[in-house]
Amino acid sequence: MTSTPDLAGKLALVTGASRGIGYEIALQMAAAGAHVIAVARTVGGLEELDDKIKAAGGEATLVPLDLKDLEAIDRLGGVIAERWGKLDILVANAGILGALTPVGQMKAKDFEAVMTVNVTATWRMIRSVDPLLRLSEAGRAIVVSSSVAHKVKPYWGGYATSKAAIDMLTRVWAAENAKGPMRINLVNPGPTRTAMRAQAVPGEKPESLPTPAQTAAKIVPMAAKDLTHTGKIFDVPTDTWTDAALPTPL
Ligand code: NDP
Repeated sequence: MTSTPDLAGKLALVTGASRGIGYEIALQMAAAGAHVIAVARTVGGLEELDDKIKAAGGEATLVPLDLKDLEAIDRLGGVIAERWGKLDILVANAGILGALTPVGQMKAKDFEAVMTVNVTATWRMIRSVDPLLRLSEAGRAIVVSSSVAHKVKPYWGGYATSKAAIDMLTRVWAAENAKGPMRINLVNPGPTRTAMRAQAVPGEKPESLPTPAQTAAKIVPMAAKDLTHTGKIFDVPTDTWTDAALPTPL
């Protein structure tokens, strides 16, 4: 999937839009015509995004928000309902790596942080905007996962568990909506040149990896009106759609 869909007139909410993959998805969706609601904590990153979107003739609304503030996520759904009355696209992209450490030595605060941002906040966002996506003629949800959701990788217990959890959550949500016009899918972006990847694999040469813009270009078509897949995982590195894989054995 590479062709950019026409998103004119669409309203897209992108979490984690201040840098990395989410920033580029927001930029490319705005270039395709969507009004982007950009969510993250870092105001500087959001403002830079806004400048770029406006310079290209697009539109954005910035929402500086810590996703750990779960009630603020509920309020955001209310604000979108009042102002626009619907939502066409959700990109649940924000995530943190957390600590890479043996399960038996993980600090409670580290485990809780990764589960709150990656799982609870994602569910809370889904709950907040689900009624608004139903009001769209073609609601699209893209939930950003990872290959480690299906790999047994020592020291990655917190992050991998969080991604396995949102995989199941997303698939159940998709199954509940299989008959309507909504399309709800997961994406594995694959290794991408971002701050998170540098934290995860510090010795790696960044220039050996795809840029966030390249990865985003493969994700944005998942918002297309004519998309038929739902409840699937789009794997960016192999450019293929799959059903959720079972975890690989030890
Ligand atoms: P980055 O660290 O570059 O960006 C993460 C984004 O999430 C930032 O915009 C950050 O904004 C936002 N975010 C983090 N915590 C919060 C919070 N508490 N409240 C609001 N926003 C928050 O990561 P990537 O772009 O690499 O990752 C994007 C997604 O892709 C993640 O879900 C990640 O797990 C997944 N992924 C990435 C891969 C890679 O190789 N890069 C590979 C596989 C999956 P701010 O700090 O401003 O709040």
